[in-house]
Amino acid sequence: MKKRLEMLEQLQEIDLQIDVLKKTQGGFHDEMTEIEQGLGVAREELAGLKAKCALLEQEKLELETGLAAERENIQRSETNMKEIKTNKEFQAVGREITAARKQTVELEEQILQKITKIDELNDEIASKSSSLEELEQNTAQRRNEKQAELDNLQQNIDADTTRREEITKELPASLIKRYNSLREQRRGYAIAFARDGYCLGCNMNLPPQLFNTLYRADELISCPHCQRVLILKQNQG
Ligand SMILES: [Zn+2]
Repeated sequence: MKKRLEMLEQLQEIDLQIDVLKKTQGGFHDEMTEIEQGLGVAREELAGLKAKCALLEQEKLELETGLAAERENIQRSETNMKEIKTNKEFQAVGREITAARKQTVELEEQILQKITKIDELNDEIASKSSSLEELEQNTAQRRNEKQAELDNLQQNIDADTTRREEITKELPASLIKRYNSLREQRRGYAIAFARDGYCLGCNMNLPPQLFNTLYRADELISCPHCQRVLILKQNQG
């Protein structure tokens, strides 16, 4: 029985160690997810700016097409003017040309505005691109570092799991079942030490009779308060 208790104690140590390793692993995963999310946001932002820029370019192109058409109209009207016979017609074409010239000035101004906006946007895109590139490099580096740490943790978990299997093989299945369900119910602690008349798992006083049985260590004793399997740890000497 003493052997079994020792094995249970070892089992709990290993399981608690595995718990910590897995929690650390989970933390790393969360950290990685956060980093990737940050990267995703930066990429989306950049894509948004590029789309905005493409739209401005498209609008600029349309204005330029309009401007070219206006200039063509002016040229055509000027050519036609040479063949005009009446004064009335001459004046009408003259008015058309004036209106078209006014239109070209407006279009040129609008095109200039677009160019200014496009330039500003391109500067912003260049700056965001370079910070994204930097972020991507950092992320790749951090990802590699975290992966190495994760692999290392996994190796420890695997080693602990092997040790755990070796111990559980030696213990009766019913005891393992009890141990596992206690661990679930008692936040990972299925085993509690008893010292000076107390269960250190729940800090409750243990009946003296029970404490005496613990000394003999010839059966598995549970704490009457928290149900954990008790192991006697008296201060020796
Ligand atoms: Zn207890």
